[in-house]
Amino acid sequence: MGKLISKIPDGPLASKWTKYKASVKLVNPANKKKLEIIVIGTGLSGAGASSALGELGYSVKTFCYQDSPRRAHSVAAQGGINAAKNYQNDGDSTYRLFYDMIKGGDFRAREANVYRAAEVSNQVIDHFTALGVPFARDYGGTLDTRSFGGVQVSRTFYSKGQTGQQCLLGVYSSLNRQIKKGNVTMYPRREMLDLVLVDDKARGIIARNLLTGEIERHAAHAVVLATGGYGTIYFLSTLAVNSNASAAWKAHKKGAFFANPSFVQIHPTCVPQLNEFQSKLTLMSESLRNDGRVWVPKTKGDSRPANDIPEEERDYFLERRYPAFGNLVPRDVASRATKERCDAGFGIGDTGLAVNLDFRDSIKKQGKKAIENKYGNLFDMYKTITGIDSYEEPMRIYPAGHYTMGGLWVDYELMTTIPGLYAIGESNFSDHGANRLGASSLMQASGDGYFILPNTISNYLADEIRVPKISTNKPEFAEAEKTVIERLNKFISIKGRQTAASFHKRLGKIMWDYCGMVRNEEGLKKAQVLINDLREEFWKDLNIPGEYTELNQELEKAGRVADYFELAELLVTDALDRNESCGAHFREEYQTPEGEALRNDEKFAYVAAWEYTGEGKPHILHKEELKFEEVEMKVRSYK
Ligand SMILES: Cc1cc2nc3c(=O)[nH]c(=O)nc-3n(C[C@H](O)[C@H](O)[C@H](O)COP(=O)(O)OP(=O)(O)OC[C@H]3O[C@@H](n4cnc5c(N)ncnc54)[C@H](O)[C@@H]3O)c2cc1C
Repeated sequence: MGKLISKIPDGPLASKWTKYKASVKLVNPANKKKLEIIVIGTGLSGAGASSALGELGYSVKTFCYQDSPRRAHSVAAQGGINAAKNYQNDGDSTYRLFYDMIKGGDFRAREANVYRAAEVSNQVIDHFTALGVPFARDYGGTLDTRSFGGVQVSRTFYSKGQTGQQCLLGVYSSLNRQIKKGNVTMYPRREMLDLVLVDDKARGIIARNLLTGEIERHAAHAVVLATGGYGTIYFLSTLAVNSNASAAWKAHKKGAFFANPSFVQIHPTCVPQLNEFQSKLTLMSESLRNDGRVWVPKTKGDSRPANDIPEEERDYFLERRYPAFGNLVPRDVASRATKERCDAGFGIGDTGLAVNLDFRDSIKKQGKKAIENKYGNLFDMYKTITGIDSYEEPMRIYPAGHYTMGGLWVDYELMTTIPGLYAIGESNFSDHGANRLGASSLMQASGDGYFILPNTISNYLADEIRVPKISTNKPEFAEAEKTVIERLNKFISIKGRQTAASFHKRLGKIMWDYCGMVRNEEGLKKAQVLINDLREEFWKDLNIPGEYTELNQELEKAGRVADYFELAELLVTDALDRNESCGAHFREEYQTPEGEALRNDEKFAYVAAWEYTGEGKPHILHKEELKFEEVEMKVRSYK
């Protein structure tokens, strides 16, 4: 442990994956059944991996904290999933998808992994179609596509505004098939509370049964984390309220390096916060920017209803600033441009923290029915929340925390720095650099789960075939279990006055104010002090009723918030350390005269992989230098 070996295969970029698959070690079918694999998570990455590994013949145990795998957070994805099919004949290709992702991520991702993600994208779409995912089709019956930010082709496959739900139902059915065949054992309502290492290899987990409180030991030859992102560190975000980073954080504390934690995406099109009592924000899919135009009044404080403001008095600021990409600039660019207009006093509504997303022109041109067919459920959702009919007047939107590009560091095989521990989907750092392009997460999560991990894991497991079934009676399991129980009891014994959620809310506000859409040295240093103070208060004044031996949702929240305090510290350290602006990481000190991100490739063209060294001790930074052999590192321009 302790070294970054990325294991990128030799040879030309376009043939690396093919060559890798042809030469990787395999496991004989008779041996597969004897090898056990734990998969944590049942989103597109985890359920995909479980079904593919089950189909291959491995013995898989799959865990999620929801009551059903099909409630994993992937269900919330709306807009679509990318693939380089080039059905539109508009110049798309694997290379172009790869290039768009590398550029969109502001040249802070590993070339070989990104190329492979693009390469596998077409298999993902074919696979989902075979599983019966009802992607939208055009009049001739061919799969339809639409555009997403940061690209000039139409490569996003979709099912209205419910793409994640439809894909997850497809994955869920293939998972169920494997459960029925006995290849996968499903453990819902379990929360992984620690990773168990035996002889420095990942060999199992400690989980809590969330219904009974029982603490369980589970062993395997390898462990796969497919546990999603940590966007809820901001408390208010577009993620499900229960999304959390605890599994990844526990693995980090056992030796898995955490990469680029400060690369967090703030999504430009969310329903603005309505009041102080909200526990989450709702996304309005990026796909809406295909047909919706973003604008603010040209006059500060213009409080007329949007429809009363004539065309010449509207500032379509994305189209004005970025004529080449217009409303379809990438998310980081759109979010900052929105913030700039609102900070300058042109925002709308009571708070001034909102801009218009207007469909008037598209409805005029295409008709209401066409817009309804593409986005009907999103318009319904917006109306349910705000009472506003967006066919008649513009939606109001504002940026919110959404996606985490950072995550556990993984090599080309998606293995972390702990042998036998893998991280896939949003839980790893791998493919999106400093900014993710829309619709490429479902693509990556599904590609990792269905097509990449099942190939790479055999390279490790081939050397494990002589290792007998791992026993949970080993002292390492007993030790980890003891630590878990002590910690649960520690939360309960504080007997303070404040709830875990109230701490989470205050932590989220610190993160949003000082380490959100824009950051600067002074604010980040202030955040360090504030986080530390709040963390101390948490450990003195937390109140958790009940016991750990029963259903106890307050206790669940406490564990997740406690981990968020530690991750928040690392996130801020990472943001302070990176003295440049790149993608979503915008340091105010480093910007061009036009207010665009100013990278420093000479000093910061690396992945920052942080090593945990113990309670209260500083992390150690390891750098994976990024070498770009196929693309030239250019200033990212959407003008
Ligand atoms: C509102 C919204 C809309 C989006 N729309 C799009 C889109 O249109 N296109 C796109 O490409 N991307 C979209 N994204 C991003 C995308 O949905 C996610 O990045 C992706 O679905 C993540 O999948 P995953 O498999 O990595 O994890 P998830 O789907 O988040 O699943 C995580 C799993 O891990 C389990 N888990 C976590 N911790 C533990 C633990 N300690 N113990 C046990 N189980 C645990 C959970 O139970 C769950 O099953 C959207 C995101 C949001 C928030």
